[in-house]
Amino acid sequence: MSEHWLADRTRLFDASGIRKVFDLGAKLKDPINLSIGQPDFDVPEVVQRAAIEAIQGRKNGYSLTQGIGPLREKLGSQVRQEYGHDDRDLFITCGTSGGLMLALMVLVNPGDEVIVFDPNFVMYDSLSAVIGGKVVYVDTYPDFQIDLNRLSDAITPRTKAIIFNSPGNPTGMVASEEVVRGLAELAARRNVVLISDEIYRAFCYDRPFVSPAKYNPQTLVVDGFSKTYGMPGWRLGFAHGPSAIIREMLKLQQYSFVCAPHPLQWAAATAMDMDVKPYIDAYRGKRDRIVEGLAGYYELVAPGGAFYAFPKLPWGTGMEFVTEAIEKYQLLVIPGNVFSRHDTHFRISYAAGDAVIERGIEALRKLARRE
Ligand code: PLP
Repeated sequence: MSEHWLADRTRLFDASGIRKVFDLGAKLKDPINLSIGQPDFDVPEVVQRAAIEAIQGRKNGYSLTQGIGPLREKLGSQVRQEYGHDDRDLFITCGTSGGLMLALMVLVNPGDEVIVFDPNFVMYDSLSAVIGGKVVYVDTYPDFQIDLNRLSDAITPRTKAIIFNSPGNPTGMVASEEVVRGLAELAARRNVVLISDEIYRAFCYDRPFVSPAKYNPQTLVVDGFSKTYGMPGWRLGFAHGPSAIIREMLKLQQYSFVCAPHPLQWAAATAMDMDVKPYIDAYRGKRDRIVEGLAGYYELVAPGGAFYAFPKLPWGTGMEFVTEAIEKYQLLVIPGNVFSRHDTHFRISYAAGDAVIERGIEALRKLARRE
C-alpha cells in the first residue's frame, strides 16, 4: 500500500488509548472487567423471540429508509405526548452513533465550530473533526456540571452546534433541570443547533429525566435502544427534531446506511412494551455500591445516571494507573484522557455482575493505597 492511499481524515483522531486497554485485557484469563460500556443484562427472551419470528416471517428485505411503521408510530406517539411540538419528525437510525453521524454530516460545514463538553463521549469530537468541524471544548471539571456562562463565552458566530449528553458518558453526571433549561434557552437565543444525546435517559436514578427539547422545540435528539434494552449489537436508534433537519438526515441515510436492521426493528417494537424498571433499580443499587465502596479511597463526584463513575486518579498518570490495575489485579478500567484533555481521572463502568463489582471495589481500594 502507498502512503498516499489513505485520506487525512482518520489522522485527525487517535483511538489508541482505549485499544491499548482492550489489548492488555485480551491477555487476561479472568479479568475484573469494569471497562465495558454496555449493560450486563441480555435482550429479554420475549424480545429475542420477536426477532426470530421476524426473521422467520421473512422480514429480511430492506425496510423503508425511515424505519418500519409500527416502531415509528410507537416512538412518535411517545415523543408527541412528551413535547407536543408541531414540527418534530422522527426516524429509525443505525444506533445512536448512526444518528449522530448523520446529524453532524448534515449540520456541520468545514470550519464550523462544534461545542463539546470536556470530558465527553469519544465520538463527539472525533466525528466532528472528521467532518471538518472545529471542536471547541467547554471544560466541566471539577464537578462535571455545565457552567452556562462559560458556555455562552464559547459561542462565536461560527458555532453551529452544541453536543449535550445527560446522563453522561464518561462521568454519569445528570444536569439539573435549571441547567438543562438554561442550555436550551441559550442555544435558541444564540441560534445554535442543540444536539441532545439521550441514550442513557432511562438510567436516571435520583430524579426524572429532563430533555432540553422540553424548553427548546428546535432541539435535535439522538437516542437508541442499545443500553435500555441490552441490545447494543442490534444497532438500533432513532432521531427526532425539526422536520427540515430530519429530512436531510434521511436523504443521507438513504445513500449510506440505507435502513436500520429490518427484522430487529420489529423486535424493538416488542421491547418497547417491556417494563425496564427492574433493570434500572438494579443499576441504581450498583451505583450506590460503587459510591459507598470507594468512599474514603477516591475523590468521586457521585454520579446520578448512566452506568459510569469517574473518580480522580489517586496517583500517577491514567496509563500508569490502568497498567498497574491490569498487571496487579487483572482489573480493567479506562484512563480518563481517552475522554478528555485532562489526564486526572479514570472511568469505571459498573455495568457488570454484582460479584465482579465487589472484586473491583476490593482491587480499587488496594490500588488507591498501593498495597
Ligand atoms: N452516545 C453515548 C453517550 C454512548 O455512551 C454510546 C455508547 O457507548 C453511544 C452514543 C453509542 O450508542 P449506540 O450503540 O446506540 O450507537
